[in-house]
Amino acid sequence: MPEELIIAGRQVLVVATRRPTARGVRLRASAISGRIEVSLPARGGEAAAAALLQSHQAWIAAQVAKWPTPAPYVPGGVIPFNGEMVRVDWQVEHPRTPALVGQNLRVGGPLPLLNGRLERWLKAQALADLEPVTRRLADQLGRPLARVSVGDTSSRWGSCAGARSGEGARIAYSWRLILAPAWVRFAIAAHEAAHLVHQDHSPAFHALNRQLDPRAGEARRWLARHGAALHWVGRQA
Ligand SMILES: [Zn+2]
Repeated sequence: MPEELIIAGRQVLVVATRRPTARGVRLRASAISGRIEVSLPARGGEAAAAALLQSHQAWIAAQVAKWPTPAPYVPGGVIPFNGEMVRVDWQVEHPRTPALVGQNLRVGGPLPLLNGRLERWLKAQALADLEPVTRRLADQLGRPLARVSVGDTSSRWGSCAGARSGEGARIAYSWRLILAPAWVRFAIAAHEAAHLVHQDHSPAFHALNRQLDPRAGEARRWLARHGAALHWVGRQA
């Protein structure tokens, strides 16, 4: 089985994972990880996987062609921030702490540290934005909230845990929401806050969610369309 493919003008990694419960071989072209993910059963399956990759070349190429393009943190590069496109304005002599000046994200210091510096700043911005909004929603609902955090999750934009525990709930977000427009971010916060009251996706949950955020459905559509691209920010390939 190949470890990478050159397909649709891109160099794409093929990553195989064994899943003891899987019956056969499965193929997935993930627009979020940017990898061809092959799932294999507990034993064997390599030959079948190689054959599947071969016979699905056209399908894989069509999927890869639809993937977003990487938006690396490079001087002069453009990344989304709060729903707008901003330019990375790096000069070694600029202050090291990033600052948004108009449409320019001004940042200085040694170039090899640019990546880490921008990512830390974006995560801090995400938390500074999402924490007060989430606390306000929890107060509005009269529910205890122990902790708000941000992380780098690929499967979910937000999660709410421990809402029934005595210590209060923990709500976590993908820091990449700071790249999206404010109303999309708010929609995720309203969704997770509604889970403080209803730990399911029942009609009662949706009614409360709509009450907190009338644009809930619109945000879901925005993320379905643009969400994958947010996972390509800060990536080289
Ligand atoms: Zn939910």
